[in-house]
Amino acid sequence: MAPLPVPLRTPLLPHIVTKTVPFNQNGSSLVDNFSRTISYLRLSVTDRCNLRCLYCMPDESGDNACRRKNSPILSHVDLLSYEELLRIVRVAVRLGMNKIRLTGGEPLVRRGILDFIAYLMKIDGLDEVRLTTNGVLLHDYAQSLYNSGIRQLNISLDSLKREKFARITGRDYFEKVWQGIRAARDLGFRIKINIVAMRGINDDEFGDFVNLALNEPFQVRFIEFMPVGEKSSWQLDQFIRAEEIQASVSDLGSFEPIQRLRVDGPARVFHLRAKDGRQGYVGFISPISHHFCDQCNRLRLTAEGKLRSCLLNDSERDIKALLRRGATDEELMKMIRDTVLDKPKGHRLQGQLEDGAALQCPGQMSRIGG
Ligand code: SAM
Ligand code: SF4
Repeated sequence: MAPLPVPLRTPLLPHIVTKTVPFNQNGSSLVDNFSRTISYLRLSVTDRCNLRCLYCMPDESGDNACRRKNSPILSHVDLLSYEELLRIVRVAVRLGMNKIRLTGGEPLVRRGILDFIAYLMKIDGLDEVRLTTNGVLLHDYAQSLYNSGIRQLNISLDSLKREKFARITGRDYFEKVWQGIRAARDLGFRIKINIVAMRGINDDEFGDFVNLALNEPFQVRFIEFMPVGEKSSWQLDQFIRAEEIQASVSDLGSFEPIQRLRVDGPARVFHLRAKDGRQGYVGFISPISHHFCDQCNRLRLTAEGKLRSCLLNDSERDIKALLRRGATDEELMKMIRDTVLDKPKGHRLQGQLEDGAALQCPGQMSRIGG
């Protein structure tokens, strides 16, 4: 593994990386009250970020915390340490979880992230570790991430135009991100490009993004703009339903639906054949207009150590407090199971949208991890 830019402050404790044998090799033992098997854990490893996306944590004038580099909102002690994260993952894997996504904030701004990933990769029973990133640091990290064993990246990119990218993200880093995407592509990562679709902001570029999917080996996925976070700039008139996005690009070729696998998550993915013979994959994620709650297989762990069973429901359990009180593995498992049993059947944003009610889910996206 390439040397770390910054060493871990505390060496990782050896007992944390002891190989564990999951007691359920055939699938997760975590089944909720609606017969959904929970096998996927999203870890928000930091709430800090080197961008200021207007839909997530926009720059706020007068707010020094947000203007400081990488916006340290949670103090170091409030964050789950890597040792604590590894312990929770190990216990979750013993319960049958087999897939982890690292997210944030921006996961690559957390110091020691590569070392953490290396330890994560040693956990028996964990089949896959994936990463969601804004790509700003990808050029520097791509090779090390590849060496660590990560093979799939979700990269957020809301505009292919430098100036607009800067307007959406608050930072003039388009070239850096693009360089990172190219480096990752050249290394052979499977890449999904995620676009938050916003009317009047980037809807003029949907065709360009579809062309990106036709010209490059990337799956391009349009995500409905969600009203998550008090700081988000969400407005009803900027929201575009997935059907409308799809209709706006339908003349670019024929869209043949790909059969969804449970592991695919909430995207409806299409094999696109353009009239000129080019092919590619395009997805539409419609958490609001056409949610897939009935197939949801995930739990989330927020940056400050709260277990959360639904992105759009603010009920959480404080696993960090339990851990820091000296909990046994069995107590941690119980909290994970209880969170699974709390998982709501679905969210109600679609109904609220139809009723014309003001939508708002106050949880901060950067601490929840999307
Ligand atoms: N910083 C990384 C990134 O941007 O890819 C990871 C964290 S970000 C919170 C995870 C995902 O959530 C990104 O794809 C981002 O576009 C998406 N996201 C954030 N706020 C959103 C919103 N209000 N509506 C829809 N997607 C959102
Ligand atoms: Fe940062 Fe990702 Fe939120 Fe944008 S969406 S501000 S890149 S955490």
